[in-house]
Amino acid sequence: MRLILFGPPGVGKGTQAKLLSAKLSIPHISTGDMLREAANEQTELSKKAKAIMDTGHLVSDDIMIGIIRDVMQSPKCRNGFILDGFPRTLPQAKALSSVLSELHLKLDVVINMEIDDEEVVQRLSKRLTCKGCGTIYNLNIDRLPDTAKCPKCGGSLYQREDDKPETVRKRLRVYSDSTSPVKEYYRGLGLLKNVHGIGGIEEIHHQILSLLSHR
Ligand code: AMP
Repeated sequence: MRLILFGPPGVGKGTQAKLLSAKLSIPHISTGDMLREAANEQTELSKKAKAIMDTGHLVSDDIMIGIIRDVMQSPKCRNGFILDGFPRTLPQAKALSSVLSELHLKLDVVINMEIDDEEVVQRLSKRLTCKGCGTIYNLNIDRLPDTAKCPKCGGSLYQREDDKPETVRKRLRVYSDSTSPVKEYYRGLGLLKNVHGIGGIEEIHHQILSLLSHR
């Protein structure tokens, strides 16, 4: 299964990708996570990428396409993948199509998750992520005994720099200007399936599984 989880920031792509990855035994490829990990390495390139991410802009297509080309060719993607956060522009989508066709592979489906902008701002201002295991918490839903520590692994919880409300609004504008046209590209290829991003995590997970089984 080769699938893309598509949708605005905060719609729940990362959460759903983790569940699907466990269920389908295929890797979750999050370009945002990869960039955040690289940022810890403190190279010139990763410092530049972090500065861009922190303001809610997009990292350049050249860099992102290079990253995705390497991942697609790696053994871990041999049996499939779940892409989260890529592609975010039309050139990225087209580059992904060419890499896959060079590898004689085809995308199976693009799941388009939708949500209102105000819900995103609300959600992301309450999102905490664990530095240790990557679990995502929402203070509106999860009752955490200690908001500094992950109840699963004891790792420290942090708020992403780009989850501050003004940066979230910037990311939503970038999504609407640069990323949402990618939807039409996949609609044209007959790969797009829609899911509403509001509802319980398990409920949305089952809706996605049902879409996958009825393709
Ligand atoms: P995410 O974790 O998917 O919300 O990504 C966080 C940030 O990483 C984005 O706001 C961008 O700055 C950068 N980023 C992640 N994926 C991409 C991509 N495919 N193209 C450009 N920038 C990206």
